[in-house]
Amino acid sequence: MEPLLTIRGLTMDFGGIRALDHLDLCILPSEIVALIGPNGAGKTTLFNCLTGMYTPTAGDILFTRPHSTTTRINGLKPNRITELGLARTFQNIRLFEQMTVIENVMIGRHCRTRANLFGAVFRTSATLREEQAIIGMSFALLERVGLADKANTLAKNLPYGAQRRLEIARALATEPSLLLLDEPAAGMNPQETGELNGLITSIKEDGLTIVLIEHDMKMVMSLSDHIFVMDHGRKIAEGTPEEVRHQPAVIRAYLGEEVPYA
Ligand code: ATP
Repeated sequence: MEPLLTIRGLTMDFGGIRALDHLDLCILPSEIVALIGPNGAGKTTLFNCLTGMYTPTAGDILFTRPHSTTTRINGLKPNRITELGLARTFQNIRLFEQMTVIENVMIGRHCRTRANLFGAVFRTSATLREEQAIIGMSFALLERVGLADKANTLAKNLPYGAQRRLEIARALATEPSLLLLDEPAAGMNPQETGELNGLITSIKEDGLTIVLIEHDMKMVMSLSDHIFVMDHGRKIAEGTPEEVRHQPAVIRAYLGEEVPYA
């Protein structure tokens, strides 16, 4: 099967700090992939390189659109990368706090809209039709993440777990083929984490590929098809949850303890 994402020799230096060190990874379509590793391993830096927030110092990031062409995305602008089909959520939630829940999702849709300035100013029928379609789609996504009844609430007034689900809805509004989730379960209670597991599984069933950075090992072990373990900017192990769990390099990176299940 052709990889969706191929990362070769990816290196990212910040002054004297090498956050990614000749990293090689291959991500296959329609899998749930977890990136794990101790603090500072380079996981978020990798997401930032993949989404155009950082331009890597060296290496290649190749993204293949389903049934389409392969593009080297190093250093492309974030909006171009979103258009190609990569979307993400953030470790520190980034919502438009003063906007409503549904407006936050509608903004995610912006990258796929056609409306131009003329249409927006003169409210042409094409623009109005498109706006209705965006509202309909945004409601459907809110239903999917269990927030339809909060559509008109200000985003800042949502509880923490709901804000994380809203970020996922906003990312889905861009119609990605690859969804990157940075610590989606952080700050969630066990019930919310259980619901999040169900949501992530259903997104995979729709044919999307998901890469998640997550410290909740129970979630990682139960959800992932494939796990990459990073330490000091390098990949130190990979495989299925069962394969990865017992590898000596992984146990060492986790300070001598076996990777916990719960
Ligand atoms: P965590 O699990 O704590 O989020 P992580 O695996 O995501 O860790 P990164 O945040 O990617 O790790 O950090 C990797 C290394 O790069 C760390 O040493 C960090 O201090 C450094 N680093 C990350 N971003 C920057 C930056 N913008 N400027 C300087 N150093 C950075």
